[in-house]
Amino acid sequence: MIDPWGSAIVDYEKLIEQFGIKPFADFVEEIDSPHLLMKRGIIFGQRDYGRIAKAIREEKDFAVVSGMMPSGKMHIGHKMIVDQLKWYQEKGADIYIPIADMEAYSARGIDFETSRELAISEYITNYIALGLDFEKENIQTYLQSKNQIVIDLAYILSKKVNFNEMRAIYGFSGSTNFAHMYAPLIQVADILHPQMGECGGPKPTVVPVGPDQDPHIRLTRDIAERFKGQFKFISPSSTYHRFITGLTGDKMSSSKPKTAIFLSDSPKTAQKKVMSAKTGGRESLDEQRELGGVPEECVVYEILLYHLADSDKELSTLYHDCKSGNIMCGECKKNVASMMKNFFEEFEEKRKRAKGIAKTILDREPKC
Ligand code: SF4
Repeated sequence: MIDPWGSAIVDYEKLIEQFGIKPFADFVEEIDSPHLLMKRGIIFGQRDYGRIAKAIREEKDFAVVSGMMPSGKMHIGHKMIVDQLKWYQEKGADIYIPIADMEAYSARGIDFETSRELAISEYITNYIALGLDFEKENIQTYLQSKNQIVIDLAYILSKKVNFNEMRAIYGFSGSTNFAHMYAPLIQVADILHPQMGECGGPKPTVVPVGPDQDPHIRLTRDIAERFKGQFKFISPSSTYHRFITGLTGDKMSSSKPKTAIFLSDSPKTAQKKVMSAKTGGRESLDEQRELGGVPEECVVYEILLYHLADSDKELSTLYHDCKSGNIMCGECKKNVASMMKNFFEEFEEKRKRAKGIAKTILDREPKC
């Protein structure tokens, strides 16, 4: 069982085998200018992505839903979601960003006002600073607790879901409170509501997630089938991206500060953190010259792969220099740390500018 509120999954192959997620690689050739995360295999899996690729190719309507739960500080791993949303925005998708204040309340005990403030000061601010354009027509973000279409739809959908099913998917027990049990249904409604009549009707919808969120996707797809007759839902598609490894070699997590580079870190702190990251280097310089490093096990290399290297060619040169022992970790880390510092210097400025706009976003009435 995958626990979307807790587990860290690293065995991607097993996930593909056990849960029927299909590889993403086939679509890389099919899509015009695929995102770097797609080309580099970081987005590794999908369900029913064919209908999204077709909608992009034929310039038809489609939606992307990507929720955020305001429960802590954002780290650079979260940047991956924003990068994908930017790409989809350029491809003409309708972008929906639900803020899961109801889930934060039920699963984490965070009150609604705190959720709202955190969503503005941390999440929306970072989303804007990372380049997502909230001034465009095709994007909206909303608090779950303020979106009546979502709340009403969740209630309707809950008619065809029972406790045994929720227990089997999420491991709920007799002591789980009702709000917690109901939270996944609000998420299901978040994903399906862009297909409601008042939101433009049925359309392909994709949800980019980490594999730990797959239980929600499977539940949503099952429920979409059950209500096909009533709402003509098209079963939502999904993509799955790898988690970025934390600085210590474990999963990067906001609740374990030693593992994470936070988007609110100063440029100097971010630089220092890269210098402290686990590498795939050998015990001694002589050994490294002789055997080469192991970039596949190197957090510094991963940071470049996921975030800092725009050029595949430069990345490939570093990979081969590392493998052949032509570059040592000290020098390599210094370069990457300096790139990270530059990124954060620019980003710090963008965050300052984004704060004013971020405050106004949730005052806008959600169109849908
Ligand atoms: Fe990682 Fe660079 Fe060392 Fe290779 S040389 S293991 S890429 S830090």
